[in-house]
Amino acid sequence: MRAPGKINVYLEVGELLDDGYHDVAIAYQAVSLCDDVRVRHADDLSVAVSGSVDLARVPLDATNIAVRAARLVAEASGYRGGAAIEIEKHVPVTGGMGGGSADAAATLLAVDALWETQLPREQLLELARRLGADVPFAFTGGTAIGTGRGDELSPALAQGVFHWVLVLSDVGLSTPAVYAELDAHRARHARDIGPADPRPVVPAQVLQALRAGDPRMLAAAMHNDLQAAALHLEPGLASVLELGEGNGALAGIVSGSGPTVAFLAEDADAALELQVALTTAQYDVVRATGPVHGARILAD
Ligand code: ATP
Repeated sequence: MRAPGKINVYLEVGELLDDGYHDVAIAYQAVSLCDDVRVRHADDLSVAVSGSVDLARVPLDATNIAVRAARLVAEASGYRGGAAIEIEKHVPVTGGMGGGSADAAATLLAVDALWETQLPREQLLELARRLGADVPFAFTGGTAIGTGRGDELSPALAQGVFHWVLVLSDVGLSTPAVYAELDAHRARHARDIGPADPRPVVPAQVLQALRAGDPRMLAAAMHNDLQAAALHLEPGLASVLELGEGNGALAGIVSGSGPTVAFLAEDADAALELQVALTTAQYDVVRATGPVHGARILAD
């Protein structure tokens, strides 16, 4: 199975709610930077990981989200055997691109096929929801709007291809730490910035840009409420953003909770030029296009 990483082209975080969570408004785009998951019959559940990104932060025990996904399918179907899960990672770990969610979505489909459990798609999506807010999107892919906790998904109309240049970082940023930093920032500046909208929505301009496949329009509308918090925790990201925008990017944005920085380019040639400029400056850079499919079978 192959499942895509994602870029949040728009991410607005609502006011902190009494239960300690926030409602969000997210425009997700699945991109061609993907993780692959292979499964084989085995007595128990196990996971092995390889790939092109730093793997140090990927757990190899039952806490790996792929193992948790397989366990949910076993519980839901009553299947008693196991699976040896192999993940080939290309989506950066704790990078704000939903790599763990991609692995979870791919594993749900992979073990369902391997074990012939034939759970209905709706039930697999429900299991995806239980695994994490970004897992349903990795499952469906394409372009979608997430509201509520981010997991209430509706597909968005999109056409054309968007060209992205991604700057990966050695450090990881923990999503809860970035949200906590945002809350602390809002509390410190409560008098100047006023309360956040408790029920944020994705603006019409973003939907229109995605529908038109227009990179300039999307560049003007991209926004991430978590970006200031991520920059506060990782000040070095500011110079990455400056360098990209000074080398032809239409716009740059911290992806999700970061620290991956995503630059939107006008076309494939501009993306290549930008990649060269950023690589020359010693950054770890990959190109990707979007939108792409959600989790899907590559081979039997
Ligand atoms: P998001 O953008 O969805 O918030 P992320 O891209 O920042 O997520 P991930 O790489 O998806 O981060 O998840 C990172 C966290 O999940 C780490 O704490 C890591 O230890 C844990 N984890 C569990 N299973 C996996 C997995 N298969 N791949 C990556 N991280 C995993």
